[in-house]
Amino acid sequence: MKRIISVAAIALLALSSGNAIGYETDVHYGLTRWLARSAGFSEVEADEIARANERTDTGALDAKHAMIWRLCMLRDKNASARTRILHFRSQNPVPKDPPDRPVSHTESFAWLEVKTILNEHGTDSADRLNRFGQALHGLQDALSHAGIPDTVAICSRQWMWAHPEERGGYRSHQADLTYKDVPSCMTMAAITYDATSLMARNLGRGKAERFSRWAHDVELFCRADSKSGKVDWFRRRGMGQLAKPIVRTTSLRAGIEFYDDVPDLDLLPKMANLKPIATDIMLSEIVDATRSDLKSSPVPSDVRDWFNEFFQSWFAADQQGITEVASRFFAESVEVWPGARLKPRMSAAFLLYWRIRDHGQAEDLAFRENAFTATLTSEQFLPPTSDWQSYLIRERAQERPFLLVQRDGPKGVEYIAFAVLKRAPTDVIIFVAQPGAKALEITQASSIVVH
Ligand SMILES: [Zn+2]
Repeated sequence: MKRIISVAAIALLALSSGNAIGYETDVHYGLTRWLARSAGFSEVEADEIARANERTDTGALDAKHAMIWRLCMLRDKNASARTRILHFRSQNPVPKDPPDRPVSHTESFAWLEVKTILNEHGTDSADRLNRFGQALHGLQDALSHAGIPDTVAICSRQWMWAHPEERGGYRSHQADLTYKDVPSCMTMAAITYDATSLMARNLGRGKAERFSRWAHDVELFCRADSKSGKVDWFRRRGMGQLAKPIVRTTSLRAGIEFYDDVPDLDLLPKMANLKPIATDIMLSEIVDATRSDLKSSPVPSDVRDWFNEFFQSWFAADQQGITEVASRFFAESVEVWPGARLKPRMSAAFLLYWRIRDHGQAEDLAFRENAFTATLTSEQFLPPTSDWQSYLIRERAQERPFLLVQRDGPKGVEYIAFAVLKRAPTDVIIFVAQPGAKALEITQASSIVVH
């Protein structure tokens, strides 16, 4: 018989699951590629534009740990400035309070990079397309990130970029999902097409057709509300081979099947003469800086062992066993941000939440009004495993399953673990542990997505 697990309390997890949003692979790679083909680019060229665009997000999965460490906790100027260009196009730079740096696609800064590349003369065309693809990324994100960046409690208020409060706040995935705001999706597609079409004409390939020619197709794309729905859209438009890898990393509900075992999209540049783009440069800078943080302040090996034990127990437990894991590793109450605390039952729910197999479904549960009555069958959870590392994306700074750093907090030394699940590849899950009633215990748990 199927075990029915009550996740009655899971709605409260919205409190602890901070998600910055931005469009995802369906937009940055899939739709961008299709629009570039529609604007007159060849398969190879359209692919290169889409790859460079997408690399800005998923090319960084293994560096998101270091990114959050440097950007959110250490106020890394460089990381913040580049994040603004790549994903959060606000006219005003950091450091500033969020209301003083709203993101908007109508301000000149949002267009600056795209316009500069459009107006170039005599530069290498392959390199130009690569940079153009990446420049489109921030312009597209300006639609999903539109508004005042939300404040993420665990991060520095004046420095962190997070998705806007008016679009669900940093705890919601709403604006990732094109069907939640079709007009914004249509505007994003129209400006992507217009810019791409101008680029094609500048390079002598343009078809000079208006966006209205494609508006109906785009509307169907925007309205598709599951991974399966998007797969179907891409299949019907000649992108069947790429369809499943495109949807796998999105936050959409699965739909008629799961896409767990689908291979990654190949995002490596294919054309000749390509130089590293801004995102590649930023990531190596952040990873290098994190390596030197670890060198100057190494984490004791018994702390690393303790965290290994925690992760292993978390993924080896069945749903019932999670409660025992929470009481073993978490403090009596766990801070999700200053003043908001999870009781022990909720700490278990926090751990359980990340074990839900379909991340889109997890989002639905966490943010639905009536989630208190929701139930899940055991098949809807990732199965317990003894190979806990297989559920995690390895981080790049130390090439370990999770990044572990230390810093001096207000109450003494804090050990901070950053982990990214393969099943939810844009969420960085954060655990802060300190000596307490137990030798070590988790006192804060949170998550942030930057894309
Ligand atoms: Zn992005």
